[in-house]
Amino acid sequence: MADAHSNLDALREDDVSSLLHPFTNAVAHGQIGPDVVVRGEGARIYDDAGREYIDAMSGLWAIGLGYSEERLINAATEQLKKLPYYHTFAHKSNPAAIKLGKALLSMLPVEMSKVIYTNSGSEAVDTAIKLAWYYWNAAGEPERVKIISRKRAYHGSNVASGSATGLTVMHGGFNLPFSQILHAECPHFWRYGEKGETEEEFSQRKADELEKLILEAGPTTIAAFIAEPVMGAGGVIVPPEGYFEKIQAVLDRYGILFISDEVICGFGRTGKMFGSETFGIRPDIMTFAKQLSSAYMPIGAVTVTEELYEKIASASNTRGVFGHGYTYSGHPVACAVALEALTIYQERDVVGHVAQSGAYFQQRLREFESHPLVGEVRGVGLIAAVELVADKRSKKLFDPFGKVNGRFAKLAYERGLITRALPASDSLGLCPPLFCTKSELDEIVDKFADTLEAVTEFAS
Ligand code: PLP
Repeated sequence: MADAHSNLDALREDDVSSLLHPFTNAVAHGQIGPDVVVRGEGARIYDDAGREYIDAMSGLWAIGLGYSEERLINAATEQLKKLPYYHTFAHKSNPAAIKLGKALLSMLPVEMSKVIYTNSGSEAVDTAIKLAWYYWNAAGEPERVKIISRKRAYHGSNVASGSATGLTVMHGGFNLPFSQILHAECPHFWRYGEKGETEEEFSQRKADELEKLILEAGPTTIAAFIAEPVMGAGGVIVPPEGYFEKIQAVLDRYGILFISDEVICGFGRTGKMFGSETFGIRPDIMTFAKQLSSAYMPIGAVTVTEELYEKIASASNTRGVFGHGYTYSGHPVACAVALEALTIYQERDVVGHVAQSGAYFQQRLREFESHPLVGEVRGVGLIAAVELVADKRSKKLFDPFGKVNGRFAKLAYERGLITRALPASDSLGLCPPLFCTKSELDEIVDKFADTLEAVTEFAS
């Protein structure tokens, strides 16, 4: 036992001396070191001291099938034995990539023609933006270079996807966002709605603001609009009534492409197979990652409509080749795991399950609405956020914001619950594995309630 501990301490020291952690205060990390996770099972993870945590965030909104799905492990193992790697450049392919492409296209709520693979959501978003640019070049409108995203959106951390992300923490110090990216207003009705305004009226106002932005920028210079059906990391912002219908009408008026970023919402999360379906979005391009493989292997994907594909294909013929892709695009092991994940979602009726358990989860979370610290409880299906405020009536933010939810996440962790302190407000994200049982969802809500009491002292 003593040996084990000294090993683990050495491990922590090695972490601090060797790693630069993503989305971490590096100086604070040097002082407190890492939380070392060593094992997972079902909806739970275990640290190196054997402490158990129920993961109400599915890692990073990703491990939909939980931490011990044997079928995914077997799919990876079998594929590793057959063909651990080959690429898909220059006409090469592999059965797993082909089968996954066909399966994904057959599940989508709108007709899409082709799939291109990436390794992550950020790469999927960068690829989607490049596809929009390539399309407009091919369509004879090369001046369409601007991409409209939204404040508080999260689309990843690469140069293009990080620019599309509408969170300032992602831009400072990195010379981002780059100039082709514009940010429209965030559609958070509870926070930004005006007194007496209905959700429909608010949505109309957001659509009018978008139109103004387009007209000011020059409609023929806009390539695409990108949106998550539900804004995830920006605070789990569920679109208000009529929002996407009105936004889509504006985009249609100016021939602007719609990129639906399904990286969090895809594969049952919102109670339908895709967020685009839940909110009536008609995308030209869709991006996927995370639950595509239930996070067991890094993989992302982008799909395009036939109209886009036709132009892209013919331009690739003119240019000799379509000059984009990654060493691991269509990686056979990642594709085999994703294919098995999609099969499981369908066999176990993820949509029916989340529709039911999500309704229960949302209803239980609404119990917090009367708590003095809670401004808003919001969500759909199995994704939610609870926003804490300094003053419930005026919805006043804590000053500075972002400390109370950080403290909450820490106190929850001490109680064996993993939530996520989201940026841009004092919200806590919740996104449990898709097949959590009722008693697991109850455990999450009960631990959350307990933490809420503990944080009240800190916040007042
Ligand atoms: N798009 C959305 C909606 C996301 O939530 C994320 C990550 O959280 C990304 C893109 C980026 O994905 P990745 O972290 O796999 O690069």
